Amino acid sequence: MMMMAMRQRLQCLKNGIWAEKLWKERKKLQRNVDINEISDGKLYGLNDMVKVGCNDCEGCSKCCQGMGDSIKLDPLDIYNLTTNLSVSFQELLEDKLELNVVDGMILPNLKLSGDGEKCSFLNKEGRCSIHSFRPGICRLFPLGRIYNDTGFDYFLQVDECVKPNKTKVKVRKWIDIADVKKNESYIIKWHSFIRYVQGIVESKNDEALIKQINMAVLQVMFVRPYAKDDFYGQFEERICTLEKALEEI
Ligand code: SF4
Ligand code: SF4
Repeated sequence: MMMMAMRQRLQCLKNGIWAEKLWKERKKLQRNVDINEISDGKLYGLNDMVKVGCNDCEGCSKCCQGMGDSIKLDPLDIYNLTTNLSVSFQELLEDKLELNVVDGMILPNLKLSGDGEKCSFLNKEGRCSIHSFRPGICRLFPLGRIYNDTGFDYFLQVDECVKPNKTKVKVRKWIDIADVKKNESYIIKWHSFIRYVQGIVESKNDEALIKQINMAVLQVMFVRPYAKDDFYGQFEERICTLEKALEEI
């Protein structure tokens, strides 16, 4: 029964139809965070100007260290890392990434280690060695996303970037990602999927079932190698594949 329900929801995801009940369920799962406490109280869209300009992080790498396991990675990040570095997900897990449980789901994050808990992609000059294909969270920082019924807005975490005298930059330019509207649609879909699966996992006491669900998501979305071409098409296919795999669990 549960799998049947999951199948129906995944069908919604596959077709890009944001069913009202899916959103209601997702909203129930949202953490209660008062963004007024961490932001300037404003919401931003892609074409808005926001005070994040930090002179290309000149002389600073503060947010590439000491961030614990907070730099979570999504399938697009894994696609970018594995295809650009020509390594497998498993190889990345040897020293660059680690897995942690987030609300019952096993998800990858950047592994910080050594003195100062530094990201392993930070080079000796204190610069990001994978800047052109850095993870989505790194692109966004110090912006965050707050989700609503139709998608999300951006907000500014005012105490995160330590650079003084920041300048205003258009959000779209700051994120600096190709095909940004397509990327936003993907982010909404992935976020909804994760929230939905977390909801199922949190509501179950069956450890074996939870493990199976986690293994299916890990395998299909992260472990299985990505081809270099069109990530978004592969993501759509994998959501469908996952639907079938979850049906068989
Ligand atoms: S991937 Fe690059 S930008 Fe992101 S934390 Fe590591 S060094 Fe910093
Ligand atoms: S704290 Fe600000 S200036 Fe420093 S690395 Fe992070 S974004 Fe760049």
